[in-house]
Amino acid sequence: MRQIAIYGKGGIGKSTTTQNLTAGLSELGKSVLVVGCDPKADSTRLLLGGLAQKTVLDTLRQEGSDVDLNYILKEGFNGIRCVESGGPEPGVGCAGRGIITSIDMLERLGAYTDDLDYVFYDVLGDVVCGGFAMPIREGKAKEIYIVASGEMMALYAANNISRGIKKYAEKGGVRLGGIICNSRKVANEKELLEAFAEELGTHLIYFVPRDNVVQKAEIHKETVIQFDPKADQAAEYRSLAKAIEENDNFVIPKPMSQERLEQILLEHGIIE
Ligand code: ADP
Ligand code: MG
Repeated sequence: MRQIAIYGKGGIGKSTTTQNLTAGLSELGKSVLVVGCDPKADSTRLLLGGLAQKTVLDTLRQEGSDVDLNYILKEGFNGIRCVESGGPEPGVGCAGRGIITSIDMLERLGAYTDDLDYVFYDVLGDVVCGGFAMPIREGKAKEIYIVASGEMMALYAANNISRGIKKYAEKGGVRLGGIICNSRKVANEKELLEAFAEELGTHLIYFVPRDNVVQKAEIHKETVIQFDPKADQAAEYRSLAKAIEENDNFVIPKPMSQERLEQILLEHGIIE
């Protein structure tokens, strides 16, 4: 069972990419569990056709811990199992802490069955607090992908996240598997992301183009793979799934200084 955490700046496309990618993996015959670790609880909406299930933390608060697994785990597209961790009451408690509470509950209720090929954690990423490092800190996810684009703030967040990964990689077994570019159509974006990934000691595992069919599918509460299986974008997500399935590049990242990051942006990014 490969346990994978997806990190990246808010709004960069973590949930969209994770759901389309897992839809692609399910077509390859893989059994997948997706655990949403964002208080927004929208990590599995496209797989479930809406925000269907109770979050783990709401359930714990309202029903206690003695519930049936099916109460918090729902099957979505192609049998992909979906869970939303949810959040603490606004202004009370730590959302990061809630993630580990959720994972503990999932373990106790038997969500991690032996037939699973993959567990994905879709983790809110721009808050660099210890809580959101929980899936990697506690040794749950051993493999990480960072979603980024050519925009400076996305790269800034990716570099920061790498700092966190490095810290836990040195203590535990967690490794960075690569950078996924979710394109924002920034000039020279692919080259920029390749240079950035190389500097981190990793690789650009896939370049996902920007395409309006993603929004169209989203309005229909579906992944592109379900909404328009013949679309070019669906093929892109299938290729991303294959790249992850076949990936053998796992490293401890080497985060860079802010100066170096800016230099890379100047050298590879904005070309007038
Ligand atoms: P995150 O989970 O990182 O906060 P989301 O997955 O919710 O981000 O994506 C934010 C928005 O970006 C969504 O409305 C989604 O439709 C859009 N989006 C994501 N990836 C793409 C893409 N490749 N092409 C077009 N729109 C995209
Ligand atoms: Mg999200």
